[in-house]
Amino acid sequence: MDTKLNYADHLKEVELAHALLQRKLRTSYVMQQVKSLSLIEIRDLYRTIHHGESPRSGQLPAIDSIAQYRESFLYLSVFASLYCQASQGRSKFAIEVSAILFAWDFFCQIFPNHIRERRPLGKIRPANFSEAWVVAQALKVNLASLRYCEKCHGESLIIYQGKFPPKCQICHLETD
Ligand SMILES: [Zn+2]
Repeated sequence: MDTKLNYADHLKEVELAHALLQRKLRTSYVMQQVKSLSLIEIRDLYRTIHHGESPRSGQLPAIDSIAQYRESFLYLSVFASLYCQASQGRSKFAIEVSAILFAWDFFCQIFPNHIRERRPLGKIRPANFSEAWVVAQALKVNLASLRYCEKCHGESLIIYQGKFPPKCQICHLETD
């Protein structure tokens, strides 16, 4: 445990770790946010919350491979829009955890039962909280942006290095 944190701050971190792990955020992302818990403690907390299930390991989701279908941009744009509304760009340098939590919970209410472990081939993305995290991160470091489209008058998520060209995919959906 990091001795520089006082007890109250440590409790706040445990609370944050709990919120992130409850939504099954990959432990390496949790580590970036919670400095006073070790990886072992984070993994133990995950198992406690999820009744003995171990956290996932292996490759982390990447922004350029989240959207495999053009339709996914409809949903990604909804999530990105919720996140941007909630974060309002208050911090230029760090992703806003409270905004991701809000946007993800809201997104899950709009599209219940879409989570990937239940529907592995679903087109609704982000399909889990870690993908939502990666989308928020990509918006922050300009690997993606939410752009107003003059043609369809909606906000569309643009992913710069993905499988689809960096323009409004929702307009292309209509012309397919
Ligand atoms: Zn458009």
